[in-house]
Amino acid sequence: MEPSVPAPATSNISVRRGEPLVVIDHVDKHYGDLHVLNDINTVVNRGEVVVVIGPSGSGKSTLCRAINRLETIDSGSITIDGEKLPEEGAGLAKLRADVGMVFQSFNLFAHKTVLENVTLAPIRVRKMARKDADARAMELLERVGVANQAKKMPAQLSGGQQQRVAIARSLAMNPKLILMDEPTSALDPEMINEVLDVMIGLADQGMTMIVVTHEMGFARKAADRVLFMADGRIVEEAAPAEFFDHPKSDRAKDFLSKIL
Ligand code: ADP
Ligand code: MG
Repeated sequence: MEPSVPAPATSNISVRRGEPLVVIDHVDKHYGDLHVLNDINTVVNRGEVVVVIGPSGSGKSTLCRAINRLETIDSGSITIDGEKLPEEGAGLAKLRADVGMVFQSFNLFAHKTVLENVTLAPIRVRKMARKDADARAMELLERVGVANQAKKMPAQLSGGQQQRVAIARSLAMNPKLILMDEPTSALDPEMINEVLDVMIGLADQGMTMIVVTHEMGFARKAADRVLFMADGRIVEEAAPAEFFDHPKSDRAKDFLSKIL
């Protein structure tokens, strides 16, 4: 074991940046006749930001869900921080606690206040004292710019504010990794940037992130790598500038010509 310095409680900056955190090895999955994940192989290192793009139906969401074990896989393996994903039980609960997930549709608890949305899991799962959980939640809400909304119910917030609360909620568990599946696609255009800015901030602070998004500005600014998926396969894997400026496959060229 290499020596490691304890990270401050409010920071997720890894002291072991660069080591493999997520190892996806020969992963296959079918839905009936559909080969939805076809021999997926990739490694995401600590502190790395990977953007996954590709046409609708190419398997991006399924891949995210498989990483978080919301979906089973047929064969291959997914390892997070050296631990192979468990099938069930306590190991699975721990895995879910360590992997933050932000969805397109916010998924806040409608009947809890903004503050309660952020403190719920730390209190229940991490057994944090309410006072500490509240303080930490306010700090995170501050960081995503919605601390003044803490006492409101989610429905009273704009979509952009709700999504920033969802990000704060995932950060409250001190995750090793955050998965985001099209976090800005349900937002009105004028709210997209406020969420992207928060995501760029996380990336700058060294959070390991896997982000499904078609926001090229974010990918160019924050991503270390782009994975282009089509028909259940990773067709291209490259640095953002290389991918966007010099796509190699016809699939990627065709896709980019439609979205750029
Ligand atoms: P993407 O996120 O890239 O749009 P998805 O991973 O959501 O793609 O879906 C990939 C393919 O798998 C699609 O053709 C979709 O219809 C299919 N699919 C997704 N979930 C299921 C399911 N639970 N049962 C059957 N087919 C599914
Ligand atoms: Mg999807």
